[in-house]
Amino acid sequence: MPSIDRINELAAEFSKIRRHFHAHPELSNQEFETSKTIAKYLTEWGIEVHTGIGGTGVVGVLKNGDGKKRIALRADMDALPITEANHFAHASQNCSVMHACGHDGHITGLLLAARYLAETKNFNGTVIFVFQPGEEGGFGAQHMIADGLMEKFPADFYLGCHNWPETPAMKIGINNKAMMASGNVFQIDVQGRGSHGAMPNLSIDPVFTAIQICESIQGIITRMKRPIDPAVLSICKIEAGTAYNVVPDHATILGTVRTFDDKVTDMIEEKLAQVSANVAHAFGAEAKLTFTRQYSAVVNTPACVDQVKEAVRELFGEETLHEQEPVMPSEDFADYLKTTPGAFFFVGSGDGSHREAGHGEGPCLLHNSSYDFNDACLPMAASVFAKVTENYLR
Ligand SMILES: [Zn+2]
Ligand SMILES: [Zn+2]
Repeated sequence: MPSIDRINELAAEFSKIRRHFHAHPELSNQEFETSKTIAKYLTEWGIEVHTGIGGTGVVGVLKNGDGKKRIALRADMDALPITEANHFAHASQNCSVMHACGHDGHITGLLLAARYLAETKNFNGTVIFVFQPGEEGGFGAQHMIADGLMEKFPADFYLGCHNWPETPAMKIGINNKAMMASGNVFQIDVQGRGSHGAMPNLSIDPVFTAIQICESIQGIITRMKRPIDPAVLSICKIEAGTAYNVVPDHATILGTVRTFDDKVTDMIEEKLAQVSANVAHAFGAEAKLTFTRQYSAVVNTPACVDQVKEAVRELFGEETLHEQEPVMPSEDFADYLKTTPGAFFFVGSGDGSHREAGHGEGPCLLHNSSYDFNDACLPMAASVFAKVTENYLR
């Protein structure tokens, strides 16, 4: 795989660094040691370092020449509350915390690009390295932005990536529209009136009402939404009651809505409120919707996608490009794209076949307790970061 030669030379050394991060995972917004290690490397390579951005966030700034253009390269740093099932030498040493999403690889891929760019300086402009905390539901991008990231370190182009086992191995998956869905949480509180279970006529039954609401709101997806707009509405938790013979006062429905378009999210939110309130009224109950927009969809900027595609063609050839289908998980990289053009790409990380003999105990699925980042992706991701940077800041 013809990654940039110098990056290939450094790959073995960075594979060790990656395994160090894997062995020492830290939860969202608690990446204290991780950010210290990152800052230490960046400083060693002569990159200007800013720590404590949005909590544990680290920003590196590398300038060369008099070019005015600025590109931001972003990696996430956090791990998950999972007990690692692997027993290899670099398995997690932090009880019940694991790099099961490959953010250890994201950090290291970006560090590898930083080392190369700092050494070769084959660009004219400013590179901003953004090491972000709390991607796994910790609102790390929001924290960094609230802390002035975009004003203190303005960029014209945000570039990020995720390893992706479902993308063909050693391919770069990208498209020029939506890559990842928005993530939204809904809660419907159904207020009824409790009674003896043997005398339901004296109650306003919130359990029965909640069941009717669950049935009815699926009609938003099948009957009210335009069929050509993709969306998921899943009810994942229903809570009510304390005993077999007591009709409770209250029931709660909790679920998630995923879309690729804020207008579709707007419609679903409005209909959720309307349908649940009206169904509840039909049975004398009250239903109140709380709808929380956690993440927007990751929607790529076509001009930035062209830059990534061009870099991939130059590095690896056309056959390495994979037209990526959008996926339903969410990514807070979307927060940067609200104000800045950019692109997010996947690195196809394989189905587990990369594992060393005797070490592979399970599938290479994200958020799986047997997961391990495929080190073969490191030079690939770093080369794409570096090549896009060199081309954009020519
Ligand atoms: Zn994840
Ligand atoms: Zn992830």
